[in-house]
Amino acid sequence: MKHEDCLFCKIIDGEIPSAKVYEDDHVYAFIDIGQVTEGHTLVIPKQHAKDIYDLSPETAKELFARIPKLAQAVKDAYQPAGLNLVNNNGEFAGQTIYHLHLHLIPRYNNQDGFDAKWENRADQYEMTDLEKIAETIKSTL
Ligand code: 5GP
Ligand code: ZN
Repeated sequence: MKHEDCLFCKIIDGEIPSAKVYEDDHVYAFIDIGQVTEGHTLVIPKQHAKDIYDLSPETAKELFARIPKLAQAVKDAYQPAGLNLVNNNGEFAGQTIYHLHLHLIPRYNNQDGFDAKWENRADQYEMTDLEKIAETIKSTL
């Protein structure tokens, strides 16, 4: 279902032009205008969902089913050293467009335009701490 005033719904409809890579009944893939690295591609469900929390299992299934083939196509086209699959949810996580999308970001080197830095703090957690965290999350499932 199309969502009014959604940029990506307009791209799916062709109201706003895009450089399309792939399209079928459920999914649309196109080149990100920002090109964080060359080949940076966005994959979106045609069914509007604003973020990961709003994504139905059915739509998720269709969307994720296309990812290996599209990632392989980016890999074959650009022969990157690696590829990051990124999904931002919420402003604080970097989301700017509220139609869920997966970024395929081919990686070339340490200064290629993409930087997801995170600290590994494995030395600060015991197994019992991890179990407690698991319980916290499990209790809301
Ligand atoms: P987010 O920051 O929400 O995870 O990602 C939104 C992405 O959409 C950004 O990487 C941005 O470059 C891309 N984008 C925004 N507007 C347009 C547009 O009109 N056309 C295309 N192709 N990409 C867009
Ligand atoms: Zn939309």
